[in-house]
Amino acid sequence: MNITIEQLYQIYREHPLISTDTRKIETGSLFFALKGANFNGNKFALQALEKGAAYAIIDEEEFATNERCLLVDNVLTCLQELSAFHRQQFDIPIIAVTGSNGKTTTKELLNQVLSKKFKTHATEGNFNNHIGVPLTLLKMPEDTEIALIEMGDNHMGEVAALCQIAHPTHGFITNIGKDHLEGFGNFENNIRAKSEIFDYLIKHDGIAFINSKDPILKNMAKRFKNPIWYGGEYDFAFLELEGAHPYISYKDRQEELIQTQLIGAYNFENILLTFCIGKYFEVTNQDIHEAIRSYTPSNNRSQLIEKGSNIIILDAYNANPSSVEAALESFDSFETKKEKVVIIGDMLELGNISEEEHQKMIELASSKSFERRIFVGPLFHQSIELEGIEKYADKELLVKNLTENPLSNSAILIKGSRGIKLETLLDVL
Ligand code: ATP
Ligand code: MG
Repeated sequence: MNITIEQLYQIYREHPLISTDTRKIETGSLFFALKGANFNGNKFALQALEKGAAYAIIDEEEFATNERCLLVDNVLTCLQELSAFHRQQFDIPIIAVTGSNGKTTTKELLNQVLSKKFKTHATEGNFNNHIGVPLTLLKMPEDTEIALIEMGDNHMGEVAALCQIAHPTHGFITNIGKDHLEGFGNFENNIRAKSEIFDYLIKHDGIAFINSKDPILKNMAKRFKNPIWYGGEYDFAFLELEGAHPYISYKDRQEELIQTQLIGAYNFENILLTFCIGKYFEVTNQDIHEAIRSYTPSNNRSQLIEKGSNIIILDAYNANPSSVEAALESFDSFETKKEKVVIIGDMLELGNISEEEHQKMIELASSKSFERRIFVGPLFHQSIELEGIEKYADKELLVKNLTENPLSNSAILIKGSRGIKLETLLDVL
């Protein structure tokens, strides 16, 4: 007979480490034999046990050749159910972090702020999908007082399913842009998919934080009796953008300046949201300011790098039409005496609007007074020819050009999808 979730939970309590990869087995861990498009974890169960796993959770009987192989119907579902069971042992605020752009940044900022007062637990990096969310929950220590769970989505029903695992009590949508349109089909579907977080919160008397300045979110918030508003005139988070960036400063209602090492005007929204939730959970103003000031981004997200006579704004972590547009607008308002150069890489996963969106970006960049506008990748390479636009089908060609004709005294915005790895350009700048 297959093992039940309750029985497995008892085993998990004694073996709280989870492994899913035999290359990284930790001694005494539970190995979950997940399946992927090109692999079947069941085949690695014995190897996991040999490498030190305490038990292997499998779903194909033929591999149950060791008494420490525990058979379940479906390993992935079992992992999700076990994590949901663990989550149910906690009566604490669980904040769901969703949206098109800025989830990880906001989550990390918020983690800094809330950890000034609470014992927090948060998604590590970008572990925000149907496997990442369960793994995050299963790492939640007993003394956690607030958890921050990032939920990514690239198809309908994904956020709803993640809510059934994480059971959030609070949540927000950072914004809804043009992300993962390949999976959603169109923008309306994307809005519907993101609103699954609100469906869940409404049904379970949860609390939503809503940006009053975002018309789509404002409209969605009508369904809540008492949403917590931020932006504009609302007490919880009144911030005003001051001056140019980097480094941005904001004023709060007490006219105190908030300083941050984040660059890019779009981070204003992320900070506003962080400020709102910090106030809601009664973290002191001083602690909120201090936490925001000390946060430095990682992973090629909006980093400012000085190299020789150049200043580089490196944002090579991801790119979709809304984040590229935000980056171009922000760079346009960046005050500098240096020559402005933009290097933009292909935007991936856009489905049938891909061609149109790449053309729009070229037009947007053309309308700004940048010294050079460089586009990299096969998708941009196929788009319209416009005067003042340089296009490279292949990053290596650009590397060669920049090696032969190095840039100097320039402010350079680098923005592209992860797949195209534009951060490697740093070597030649
Ligand atoms: P992913 O879907 O990969 O998890 P994410 O939503 O977690 O992305 P971040 O990792 O925080 O987003 O930021 C990725 C990039 O999105 C940033 O480098 C920046 O270019 C852009 N970005 C961040 N915040 C915003 C925002 N509020 N509006 C528009 N673009 C943003
Ligand atoms: Mg993320």
